[in-house]
Amino acid sequence: MVWVKVGWLRAGVVAGVIAGLVGPTPMRLASATPSAPQPLAGFVVGIDPGHNGRNWAYPNYLHQQVWNGREWEDCDTTGTSTNGGYPEHRFAFRVAEYLRRDLQRDGATVVMTRTNNQGHGPCVDRRAKKLNAGHSDIAIDIHGDGGPSSGRGFAILEPVRDRQNRHVITSSARFGRFLRHAVLTGTRMPTSTYDGQDGIAHRSDLAGLNLATEPKVLIECGNMRNATDARMMTSAAFQRRLARSMEAAIRWYLTHPA
Ligand SMILES: [Zn+2]
Repeated sequence: MVWVKVGWLRAGVVAGVIAGLVGPTPMRLASATPSAPQPLAGFVVGIDPGHNGRNWAYPNYLHQQVWNGREWEDCDTTGTSTNGGYPEHRFAFRVAEYLRRDLQRDGATVVMTRTNNQGHGPCVDRRAKKLNAGHSDIAIDIHGDGGPSSGRGFAILEPVRDRQNRHVITSSARFGRFLRHAVLTGTRMPTSTYDGQDGIAHRSDLAGLNLATEPKVLIECGNMRNATDARMMTSAAFQRRLARSMEAAIRWYLTHPA
């Protein structure tokens, strides 16, 4: 979950599903044979699993102010959880780990903003800078949302042009379209019924997007406060399918130049 300043935006889920169906050519999910080629050899992919497992124990750390490229904001939050208590930080980290393994099998070098779920931090600005400094060719921030309990679905948050990210607006939008298509075809999660339009929202208030110097999106993978989404998001099978969909979108983006 990321801080929302503008309130819940209503969007048509039917339009979102249709938009996903008419997206780019279907992407094949990778097979896991040992002799498989490594299509992503030479590429660097950044992964930022949102929040951290012990952020809750460091309120002063979380409330320190960091510059997000446009304004000052809190270092981070604890994130949300399902009504049953399954935390967003654990969901994000597990999906990130599945994705890391898929990408490394493809031959990619992976830069992670955190490598376990037992600590606190880093702050959101440090996460963005770490992925930039790692010379990522593409990057993804992984979150789960804490929306209204009646709302469902995933939303892909894309950067709005500012000074630092001005060269990656078009490329991030292209990645976002691939990712939407891959998640719609690779999982049963629909696009969000309450955030953005057809599963896409543009955000100017997030360090992870404002400070990015590589193509990057943030995905709210579903609404953890919705019972149906929560059932899916706490399942290892869904987490693996979701990671596989992310891998397919990243691979498609990197191996099909615009
Ligand atoms: Zn979050």
